[in-house]
Amino acid sequence: MSRIRVLPPEVASMIAAGEVIERPASVVKELVENAIDAQAGSIVVDIKGNGCDLVRVTDDGAGMTPEELDKAILRHATSKIGSAEDIFAIKTLGFRGEALPSIAAVSRTTIASRPRSTDTGAALVIEAGVVTRRCLKGMPPGTTAEVADLFFNTPARRKFLKTTATEQRSIIDVIARYALAYPKLAFQLGIDGRTVIDAPGNSSHEERARSLIGKSSADRMATFSRDTDMLRVFGLLGRIQDARKNRSGMYVFVNGRSVKDGMITAAIMGGYAGVLVKGSYPVAVVFIEVDPREVDVNVHPTKAEVRFRNPAAVFGILSSVIKEAVSSSMHMNASSSPGEDAWLTGRGIPQAGRLAEAALPPHLHPYAGQRQGEDGPTRPRGRPVDAAETLPLFGAERDGAGHAFSYAGLTILGSFRNAYLVLSDTDSLYILDQHAAHERVTYERLRRAYHSGRIPSQSLVSPRVVELTPGDFAAFLDARDLIESLGFSCDPFGERTVLVRAVPQEVTGSDVEGVILDAIHAPTEGYGQDTAGGRKIDAILAALACRSSVRIGVSLGREEIERLLLDLDRLGSPATCPHGRPLYKRITLGDIEKWLKRKP
Ligand code: ADP
Ligand code: MG
Repeated sequence: MSRIRVLPPEVASMIAAGEVIERPASVVKELVENAIDAQAGSIVVDIKGNGCDLVRVTDDGAGMTPEELDKAILRHATSKIGSAEDIFAIKTLGFRGEALPSIAAVSRTTIASRPRSTDTGAALVIEAGVVTRRCLKGMPPGTTAEVADLFFNTPARRKFLKTTATEQRSIIDVIARYALAYPKLAFQLGIDGRTVIDAPGNSSHEERARSLIGKSSADRMATFSRDTDMLRVFGLLGRIQDARKNRSGMYVFVNGRSVKDGMITAAIMGGYAGVLVKGSYPVAVVFIEVDPREVDVNVHPTKAEVRFRNPAAVFGILSSVIKEAVSSSMHMNASSSPGEDAWLTGRGIPQAGRLAEAALPPHLHPYAGQRQGEDGPTRPRGRPVDAAETLPLFGAERDGAGHAFSYAGLTILGSFRNAYLVLSDTDSLYILDQHAAHERVTYERLRRAYHSGRIPSQSLVSPRVVELTPGDFAAFLDARDLIESLGFSCDPFGERTVLVRAVPQEVTGSDVEGVILDAIHAPTEGYGQDTAGGRKIDAILAALACRSSVRIGVSLGREEIERLLLDLDRLGSPATCPHGRPLYKRITLGDIEKWLKRKP
């Protein structure tokens, strides 16, 4: 007897549902796509908690007759395609006819709908895929889908959900993406009765970007567009210093569909090649419009990926237009008035070194503040050494004779390209990366202060107003305690603004908005040991240190170099930066003699 069985339909549909509906944000996405496909002008989304208790999406679109409603919840029932050929030229967001049955299989769903041509609507209640009620219902034209008790019959799924804040953030992200892609439509999102997104209709892509990505970043974004025979690309590009440590600021749309596509990401990164610090990603909103026959959207159950017929051509066009826009924005700002508000102030950008230095207001100068109270030109003064700092907690280098390596014991020969300090002792040359070295010092100070429970904090003369995206604001609320434990003092203000009143002393002078965003965007996994609020402390401290450390391209005075070397020694002469890159390269006399063929 064969042990192979054909699964009962309710089991099969639960498995299929798992592919489409992973989490509450998937429900939101599918329902919003249906509303957009139904030509809605306004889409209102309400959520309770993490979205499992309730997701309700109301639209004023075409609606369904009672007969259509009955069909809509059947698997592979769709009004959007009719034949196999249609799959190759999809103009709607949906086409698989799987969303409603998948949602209905794992929840208690009520769908009420009324076409514009009739006076009353009809409603259906489906529990775990079984219709339990049908009735007529008075309602305005359009459709309301109400999904309650998501995953009540698949408890394993619930266990995989992340924190309420994280699930809410994903939902906000879904709405923000569609609102960016469809500026003509009005979008509203309420979470537990609080309005999180309120985007009026008849808007433009730029206005939407401004309201959803944060006014301060979006105001300073550069626009680009290009039309070719094959495709049209346009969008907005963020400044270098608004770059993030993850891809959360990259919004990519292909024919109105939000996609995550490695090739497109690579093309955007390619456009920014050479100007972004390693490990950071630009804020970028990129719209690609192609003939639907040029792109296959049927490659992923949630349609999050696409496949272009000619990916190389798309890559080429995209990376070249972005490269052009990035470099012309840099040029524009270099020749006008470089300043804090310039599109680009070169943090960690070799090419922009001189610009960065010129653009640096006095209070932003590296080591500003630490200069005060200096009593002699040659004797560098660091902060008083505290006990923790004298402990060589990590990899102090030792030479062959067992002596600890000392940076301050080296002779300062000079600096190369305002980036690398050239040092020597009797038998070696050392090339020291000034940014990495300073970053390590700042990082260790922050880390030790954090672990001793007292990061000194510095009040700002006037609070800084940081406007966040709805998603970042939710993330901020989630991470607020953590952020405050790092020496920030900040208050939420309104629905998405944060007033920063104080910052950690080590980061005074650096870009406040940048450090707050770093803390919000810190990876929630994969870096360092300690976690708080799900975020990795070390990653945040490293990001803060990076922001507040002397840049490549800034010239350091002799005392500043001496102080830096002394600081490194106090910390036990570390050999690497917080990210693990080496701080210096040693070239021995033997190496030199070998290169110049003085010795065999
Ligand atoms: P798909 O969107 O892939 O066609 P769905 O399961 O999401 O599959 O929806 C099935 C059908 O139900 C759609 O093709 C559409 O005809 C109808 N439908 C779903 N939601 C709406 C809505 N909000 N307004 C009008 N019709 C809808
Ligand atoms: Mg659909």
